Amino acid sequence: MTEQRKRAGGRPRKGDGKRSSLTVRLAPATREFLDLEEAASGLPLTDLVERAVEAQMPRVAAPFTAAQVAALNQRQGDGRFHAFTCANRGDGAHAGEGLLVATTAGWVCPACAYTQGWAWAFQAEEPSR
Ligand SMILES: [Zn+2]
Repeated sequence: MTEQRKRAGGRPRKGDGKRSSLTVRLAPATREFLDLEEAASGLPLTDLVERAVEAQMPRVAAPFTAAQVAALNQRQGDGRFHAFTCANRGDGAHAGEGLLVATTAGWVCPACAYTQGWAWAFQAEEPSR
């Protein structure tokens, strides 16, 4: 027996203002595990599923190559994916969304000392033409 769950969540994407929707079919054991996690963590089930999916997505670690930096910065502002933002962006000293900038040493924040040393692997690939 499986259970379907309609997801009307997802992070808001820049641009069209729409939210993504995804139907996930869960095995009973997985569903039971997630229900226990939901109860224990207090996080919505949709967040837990999103975290589980993200945990399985391949990453690349800094240092990034010049080609990776170019791809990362191109994708960072295109609105197709959730952009990486500074963890301190709410402190009043950050303009706009607090977008991070890719460098060969990793992501840096133009407004503070925040850094991030990884990116999703698909983001770092050269865009196909
Ligand atoms: Zn910052």
